[in-house]
Amino acid sequence: MDEEFEVLIIGAGPAGISAAIPLARAGFEVMVVERGEYPGSKNVFGGILFTHQLEKLLPDALENAPLERSVTRRRFAALSAENEIAMDVKVTPWRDKPYNHTMTALRGRFDRWYAEQAEAEGVNVIPGMMVSELLVENGRVVGVKIQPGDEEFRAKVVISGEGAHAFLARQAGLMAKELPKRHMITNVKEVIGLPKEKIEDRFLLEANEGVAMEYFGEAVKGYFGMGFIYSNEESISIGIGLTVHDLIKSKQTLNDMLEHFKNHKTIRKLLEGGEILEYSAHMIPEYGYNHLPQMTMPGLLLVGDTAGLINGSVYHEGTNLAMGSGILAAETLIEAKEHGLDIGSAEALAPYRQKLEDSFILKDMFKFRKIPDFFNKFPHYLRDYPGHIASWMEEYFTVSETPKADIEKGILKKIKRDIGLWRFAVDMYKVGRAVR
Ligand SMILES: Cc1cc2nc3c(=O)[nH]c(=O)nc-3n(C[C@H](O)[C@H](O)[C@H](O)COP(=O)(O)OP(=O)(O)OC[C@H]3O[C@@H](n4cnc5c(N)ncnc54)[C@H](O)[C@@H]3O)c2cc1C
Repeated sequence: MDEEFEVLIIGAGPAGISAAIPLARAGFEVMVVERGEYPGSKNVFGGILFTHQLEKLLPDALENAPLERSVTRRRFAALSAENEIAMDVKVTPWRDKPYNHTMTALRGRFDRWYAEQAEAEGVNVIPGMMVSELLVENGRVVGVKIQPGDEEFRAKVVISGEGAHAFLARQAGLMAKELPKRHMITNVKEVIGLPKEKIEDRFLLEANEGVAMEYFGEAVKGYFGMGFIYSNEESISIGIGLTVHDLIKSKQTLNDMLEHFKNHKTIRKLLEGGEILEYSAHMIPEYGYNHLPQMTMPGLLLVGDTAGLINGSVYHEGTNLAMGSGILAAETLIEAKEHGLDIGSAEALAPYRQKLEDSFILKDMFKFRKIPDFFNKFPHYLRDYPGHIASWMEEYFTVSETPKADIEKGILKKIKRDIGLWRFAVDMYKVGRAVR
């Protein structure tokens, strides 16, 4: 077969499908090629699905999509070897629609449903086919080669929503060939089945409410990364992730790290009696704004994780940036066609980056642009502070006849011994600047 499509999209993830729907609505002929047996079959996330972009495309999605629980409780904790200190935010109005646009989901179910919505709009979604190569002629991407079968599909524009590894985008020269080890977070996750009532009792939730819990410090043995627990309807998702660089340095496997997290004294009770239903692994491209790749070349546009669109910070957003970038990629092509341009030309694709800059996607990534480099450059924040702070807190709340004033003096002495007052002040100043 040697067919030509108007737009060919690689990957039926949130980014690819969010590009496909508006394009089909605008009358474009769109094909999505997905390597999985069905959309979502190979996809992994934590996961909270941030739904504001989804609702833009499908206003009834909150009623119709296979979503799990609305997240009303967000918890950020630092673990030391024995202890935990946490910030716990519970907002009861998030129980009600639009649920703070924050729903837990399982990708196998959600992605399949989302691709079906695109098919209903006229998008041709072809699962079980992998794009193995981009076809490039005179500096322009003109199509793709497919496996199995070495067939070639030609297209006026290819949108790559292939996800974190971005093999094809690397092949096209839009980013370095080597994965950046300090900016790729490698993750492993289990879905653990638990009865609905147990989940609600253990995590202090009303029916259908969910929790998102993120853990730093000892969760990943003090490396750059975190552990997480998200509650689904009748299961919890638990996992850990850390940079490839730190995983190599640790000389551990991802599975060792996950077991370490699951067996932490403050975690293991949450999992008791659960049955492992799924095990998966995947990368997150946490390049940060300062290391984003080139996002277009003639005939090619990158969306979602392929383009490194992740807001790591404390928000841990990826799905909404993926969907938002898909929508903006579609908008770029629709406007180009309206202006009578060749939709794959450099001129037609040029506005895409500016659209990203003007949206929440790059505004938020710009705000947190220093974070990935900061924690790579100063590993002691994640390595040392969780343990120190937990031990200071333990001392502060330990009940004895020691006068409280003496306890406070004792803690000050500990800060001097553990870190030094001047260094402590400098560290707090530096971290404040990094997140500003
Ligand atoms: C462990 C983990 C936890 C996460 N937690 C969260 C979270 O809680 N909230 C959040 O918002 N984000 C989270 N993320 C990030 C989020 O998953 C991504 O940002 C999002 O999935 C990006 O969507 P995408 O469509 O760009 O890529 P993907 O979802 O990766 O989709 C890529 C698609 O392309 C297909 N594909 C790949 N290569 C080819 C090829 N050559 N040919 C054909 N098809 C191909 C894949 O099978 C897949 O369907 C997490 C990620 C991980 C790994």
